[in-house]
Amino acid sequence: MVLPVPTGDRGLKFRALGFPVRVDPFFFLIMGFLGIGGAYGVHGPQAIAVFVAVAFAAVLAHELGHAVAARASGHSASIVLYGFGGATTHRGPALSRGRGALISFAGPAVGLAIGLPLFLARDALPSYGYGRYIAVTAIFLTLGLSVLNLLPILPLDGGQLLANALPGDSYTRTRTAAGVGVVVAAAAGAAAYAAGLTFSLVLAAWLVFGNIMTLREQRPRVVMSVRELENATVSLIDAGRVDQAIHLIITSPVRDELDPAVIGLVRVANGDPAGWDVVVAAADEAPHDQQRAACLVRAAVARADWDSLLARPHLAPALLRWAADRAVLAGREDIAERLAPTAR
Ligand SMILES: [Zn+2]
Repeated sequence: MVLPVPTGDRGLKFRALGFPVRVDPFFFLIMGFLGIGGAYGVHGPQAIAVFVAVAFAAVLAHELGHAVAARASGHSASIVLYGFGGATTHRGPALSRGRGALISFAGPAVGLAIGLPLFLARDALPSYGYGRYIAVTAIFLTLGLSVLNLLPILPLDGGQLLANALPGDSYTRTRTAAGVGVVVAAAAGAAAYAAGLTFSLVLAAWLVFGNIMTLREQRPRVVMSVRELENATVSLIDAGRVDQAIHLIITSPVRDELDPAVIGLVRVANGDPAGWDVVVAAADEAPHDQQRAACLVRAAVARADWDSLLARPHLAPALLRWAADRAVLAGREDIAERLAPTAR
C-alpha cells in the first residue's frame, strides 16, 4: 500500500452487504470542510450536512464496488472511509492480473454507473434549492470522483490499474507507477492551481508526497527464518545441489544460527569427512530432534555407513521420512503416501 490506510478502530463501524466498514472521524471532518460554502440557495450547516451525507454514500458505493468484485474472486474484504476517500483491503488466494484489474476498476465503475445517468439528466433536474444542490453534489462525487480516481496516480484506482499492467515484479511495477504518479499528480496540481481550485491543490500535494515516499521505499528483502533455511538446505542436499545449498547458507543473514547438524551434513555432502563427526555429535546430543535425525540419516546414507544407522534404532522414523522424500523426488507419490503414516 502506498499511503497507509489508518489502522486502529476509532470511528463509526457497521456492516454493508456483509463487509465490515469503518468510517474514520477525519473522513467526516474533511468532507465537512469540503462542504463549506454550498450553492443553489443551500448554505451554512445544511450545505455541510448534505455534502457529508452524499460523500458518505458515494464513497461507500465506490468501495462496495471493489469489495463485491473481490468477494467474487474468492477474497474477503473490509472497507475504511478516511481522508479524502476510502480504501478496500482484501485478502485471499493469489489473483491473476486480470482479476486484480477488475477489482480496481469495479469502484470507479459503480461511480460511473450512478453519475453518468445523473449527468445526462442534469437539465431535467431541479434548477435551484436542495434538489439541485444534492444532484450536483452527487454528480461531482460519483462521476467526478470516478474520473479523478482513474488518473494514473497511486494509490488511486488508475494508479493500481497502471501498476497492474506494467511489466516486471510487483516492486518494479509499483516503483514505475509511483514515478508516473509524481508527474501526473504534479501536473494535475498545477492545473488545479491555475483554475483556482485551492483545495484540489492540497489533494495533489498529498498524492505527490505519497508517491515520492513510495519511490524512496527499499526493495523488501526476503529473509528466511532459521527453520526455513534449514529445510531449504536439506531439500537442496536431497536434490544433489550442494553448491546451491552452500550459496544459500553463506548469503543468509541467519547463517550463524544454523543447527550444527545441518552444517555437518553440508560438509559431508561437499566431501569433507570431518563433517560426519559434527552430525553424529549433534544428533546423539538430542536423539529426539527430528531435524538432527534427518541430517544423520542423510549423512550416513552419503557415506554408506549402515552400521551407524543400525546402532541407532530410534532413527527408524527419520529413515522412513527420508525414504518418503526420496520417493517424492523420484515422482513416486504413491510410495511416499504409503510411507507417510509410518514415518511420523
Ligand atoms: Zn477505488
